[in-house]
Amino acid sequence: MMNPDIFLGFTKIGENKKSEMIRKKFRRSPINLDNKSRVLEFLDRFDYILSDCDGVLWLNNQAVPGVPSVMNKLRAMGKKIIFATNNSTKTREEFEQKLTKLGYKCHIDELFPTSFSTAVYLNSIGFHKKVYAVGCSGIRDELHKFGIECSGVGFESTPTDWTPGMADVELDPDVGAVVVGFDNQISFPKLVKACSYVNRPNNLFIASNADESYPSPRNKPEILVPGPGAYVAAIQAVTGKEPIPLGKPFKYFFDIICMEHPDIDPKRAIMIGDRLTTDMVFGRNNGIKTLFVQSGIGTFNDMANFINSTNPDDHLCVPDYYLNSLDDLNKYL
Ligand SMILES: [Mg+2]
Repeated sequence: MMNPDIFLGFTKIGENKKSEMIRKKFRRSPINLDNKSRVLEFLDRFDYILSDCDGVLWLNNQAVPGVPSVMNKLRAMGKKIIFATNNSTKTREEFEQKLTKLGYKCHIDELFPTSFSTAVYLNSIGFHKKVYAVGCSGIRDELHKFGIECSGVGFESTPTDWTPGMADVELDPDVGAVVVGFDNQISFPKLVKACSYVNRPNNLFIASNADESYPSPRNKPEILVPGPGAYVAAIQAVTGKEPIPLGKPFKYFFDIICMEHPDIDPKRAIMIGDRLTTDMVFGRNNGIKTLFVQSGIGTFNDMANFINSTNPDDHLCVPDYYLNSLDDLNKYL
C-alpha cells in the first residue's frame, strides 16, 4: 500500500515557480488516524457523521468487513448518523432493509439516497408533469410517493435493423423532466428518448448522480465500469443543455438533509467517503470536515495526486483525515 505521507513534501525537478506557489497556497496535509490519541481527538470534534454507502459501508451486496461494528459503536457513543449516498437505485425503505440485513443499525429518517433528493426537489418546485427516468426503480418509486408519474425504468431493446434514421421512438407529450441515475439496462432507444425530452424547451434535465465510474469487479482491474456521469455527459453532448445536479458534491443535497435534521452544525459534522471528487468536495462545499477511506473507488495514490496538483480546484478533493478502511477504528473504540 502506498503511504501518502511520502508525497507531502514532493516537488518535481524543474517545476516552475508558479506551480510550486499554487501548491504551497492550497496544500493541506490530511491526518492519518493511525493512533489512539488522534482517533479520540477526532471523535471529540464531531456529533454528526455523514457517511457515504457504496465503497464505505458495503461493496455490492457485502458489508465492508468490520464496518457495521464501527458504525454501531459510534451510534452507541451518541453520534448521530446520516447515510448520504448518490445511489438512486433504491428507495429509502429499500436502503433501510439493505443496511439492516448487512448489520447496520439505522432509521428511515437517516437515509438520503438521491432517488429521495430528486423527488423532494421536484415536489418542492411544484413539478406537475411526468418524469422520464434513465435509472432504476428507486427513482420511480420515490417519485410515486409524491404523486409524480415516471416512465423509462426497465429494459428497452434496440431493433437489430435500426440505423440512426430509423430511431423512431414514441414520445409522451406530458413528460416535463428527465432524471438520470445508475441504469443497468441503459439502451440506445432510452438515450434517444432522454435526449429528445431534454431537448424540449423548458423541460428539466436532472442528474441525480453523475459519478463517472464504479469500482471494477473484484480481481478484475482491467474492467472499467461507467457510472451515470457517462449517460449525463452523453445527453449533455447531444442537447447542449446543462443538468441540474441533485447529489453530492452539490449544496442542494446538504440542504435536503438539513430540512429533516435542522440541528446539524457543519462545524460539528464529518463526511466519510471513498470518492475524492464527490464526497470530499461535498464536505468542502458545505463547511464539513472530511474523512477519506480507500475501501472503495479512491486510492491513497489518487489522494496524493490531488495534494500535489497545481490546479487549485483539485485541492477541494483533499480530505482532512484518512484511513485504509473504517474497520481500522475498531481497535480504538
Ligand atoms: Mg462511494
